[in-house]
Amino acid sequence: QQENLSTAAASAVYSRSSPGQSTAVEFRQVSKSFGHHQVITTVDLSVASGEVVAVCGPSGSGKSTLIRLINQLETASDGEILIDGKPTRGLKGAALQRLRTHIGFVFQQFNLYAHLTAQDNVSLALIKVHGWKKTEARAKALALLTRVGLADKAQHYPEQLSGGQQQRVAIARALATDPNIILFDEPTSALDPEMIGEVLLVMRELARSGITMIVVTHEMSFAREIADRVIFMDGGEILEQAAPEDFFTRPTHPRAQRFLQKVL
Ligand code: ADP
Ligand code: MG
Repeated sequence: QQENLSTAAASAVYSRSSPGQSTAVEFRQVSKSFGHHQVITTVDLSVASGEVVAVCGPSGSGKSTLIRLINQLETASDGEILIDGKPTRGLKGAALQRLRTHIGFVFQQFNLYAHLTAQDNVSLALIKVHGWKKTEARAKALALLTRVGLADKAQHYPEQLSGGQQQRVAIARALATDPNIILFDEPTSALDPEMIGEVLLVMRELARSGITMIVVTHEMSFAREIADRVIFMDGGEILEQAAPEDFFTRPTHPRAQRFLQKVL
């Protein structure tokens, strides 16, 4: 059964569907345990193509695990995760590679390669994984660095860049393979306050581009501004999901109310 699923998914080509017309990410009764510690409990979730979703909740509530499950950085212990309607359980090798190509990921700590320039960080996967010619991959990398406002920093190494600039390189890198979905795990949490704005600016532009975005963030005003929907997690469960206006002005779950009192 599992074999069939992964073969079917391996032969599938992920669709470039138009916003709102299809489901980009679907969780069906997904649970995740580390040993005996259950950190995600029977989550159902459906994110439409082109939708921008903000995920918030207290530390340890399972936000990172939730989004890491989407691109298989973690594997679900139970339930099913579908990407563009296709099952992802048991994907390996080329099929897993294709899934990861389709889903960009931006980490809190940037995770750039210290020994590579900004341009090489962005072009690396295109060359090594996707077999692009170096000149073409570098041209694309430069275009992406231009998009995030860093054309003049293409030849800089990470240590020569500020945190905000490094995170913008990481966003350019996540976009290199033209993903349909991009996941952010607290992208501004490691940044000095004066650098948060430049990263949010890039993310704001991205949100308008029609890409499906799932953003774990503590930037509540940003979530309110760009998200189509806010998800509140606690204890490994989604306790509330609502349009930002509703969530921020009249949260219904007591724990969401308490959380908002603390962070707003
Ligand atoms: P959040 O991102 O909301 O802070 P996480 O998803 O990182 O929450 O973590 C949820 C829970 O899962 C925490 O109790 C954390 O300690 C635990 N956890 C996360 N990753 C692992 C892991 N690789 N091994 C064991 N426990 C983990
Ligand atoms: Mg986290």
